[in-house]
Amino acid sequence: MIGRSWKRHGLRMAAVAAIVVVAGWASGYPLTALLVGLGAYAAWQLYNVVRLHRWLDNDLAAPPESHGVWSEIFESIHRLQKRNREQLEQNERIIREFRSMTNAFPDATLVLDEHDCITWFNDAARHLLGLRSPEDIGQAVTNLLRDPEFADWIPVQGQVESAFEMASPLDSNTRLSVTAISHRPDQRLLILRDITDIHNLEQVRRDFVANVSHELRTPLTVLFGYIESLRDQADEETGPVLQRMQEQAWQMQALLNDLLELSRLQSESRPDSDTEVNICAMLMQLREQAEEISQGNHEIEVRCASGLGMMGNEKDIESAFRNLINNAIHYTPEGGVVRIAWREEDDGLVFEVTDTGIGIPRRDIPRLTERFYRVGSDRSRHTGGTGLGLSIVKHVLNAHGARLHIESELGEGSAFRCVFPLERRLNMDLSPVQAAG
Ligand code: ADP
Repeated sequence: MIGRSWKRHGLRMAAVAAIVVVAGWASGYPLTALLVGLGAYAAWQLYNVVRLHRWLDNDLAAPPESHGVWSEIFESIHRLQKRNREQLEQNERIIREFRSMTNAFPDATLVLDEHDCITWFNDAARHLLGLRSPEDIGQAVTNLLRDPEFADWIPVQGQVESAFEMASPLDSNTRLSVTAISHRPDQRLLILRDITDIHNLEQVRRDFVANVSHELRTPLTVLFGYIESLRDQADEETGPVLQRMQEQAWQMQALLNDLLELSRLQSESRPDSDTEVNICAMLMQLREQAEEISQGNHEIEVRCASGLGMMGNEKDIESAFRNLINNAIHYTPEGGVVRIAWREEDDGLVFEVTDTGIGIPRRDIPRLTERFYRVGSDRSRHTGGTGLGLSIVKHVLNAHGARLHIESELGEGSAFRCVFPLERRLNMDLSPVQAAG
């Protein structure tokens, strides 16, 4: 098409040039005739360039009238402009639809750049977080959502999706669940959902469990007292019955204690009292308690890196470690070995309990930290377990930013590994405490 029009243009120019040259020869001034012809051609080109410039500059709708190759150039540009305009309108329509769609979202949605500055947000973000446009565009999100825990959380999120809970900056009674999604290396989507109702329901459930457990304690203590005094006067027939009653009451007391402990841990998102914890001294005490439970039936070994302490909530850490050690004793048959270790590794501070016990089927491992999850009810019945021990461990570890790794082989034994962040490391400057049993 283009080739054909230039060919036509070339032929036309050649014909005009031939006429000019012939006319020049005939008049006796061939050179002057050629110069006049070239001048006229240049003037025509210049005239069309000026018209093109004016047309493009004024963004006029219709192209200027012209002849020959210029008419085709004007038409091509006009077609291109029309196509661009249609594309632009389509893009604007998509953006308008996307905006009205995201504005209909009940969740506050923010787009953050690589420096965590806001580049866009929807209507829900205005109502839920009080953001204003355009004032808040370009602001660091941590300047507008002022929560120290959020400020700690937001920079450490990698490519993975993860969630966090916080109060709304407009109303401290409104609870928000925050999810950060990295969809491009330089952009993240922050979604904040109002979960006040779920949060309140969860609180009611926790309060209910805590209150019931607390209220049951007093009648249980009275029952204990009566069983004790009755056992003093028991004969051969009533003795075993009263002993069973006492065992069941102990079991119930252990359950109430664990439920209260769990609801206390759940109501605290962080250890409220981080202190210097001498882990080696703690392990020596736990070992004594373990020896008592074992009654000499197990070999118990403790290896503790001397002087390696940790910042944390001493009571909670002790409760978690005790649960793991007691489990190892309970689920390891007589003659087995329980190894307890505390050391520093490249990826963190490690507390590890390994045993040569009955082990755990592979399919049960991911569910062990669920409340009341037991591997076969007959196992725990013999040990007096409540099914809450590992839930407590998980909560304590979460509150300390630690992870729990469980490895086990059925019939071979288990290893429970707690990895605490290296930032919690503490030099205790003590005489070496190390023991092997
Ligand atoms: P429980 O109070 O019943 O021991 P836990 O939450 O402490 O509850 O443990 C959950 C389940 O995990 C237990 O029922 C037990 O079957 C299993 N388990 C925990 N620790 C061990 C272990 N060291 N060896 C084998 N099984 C274990």
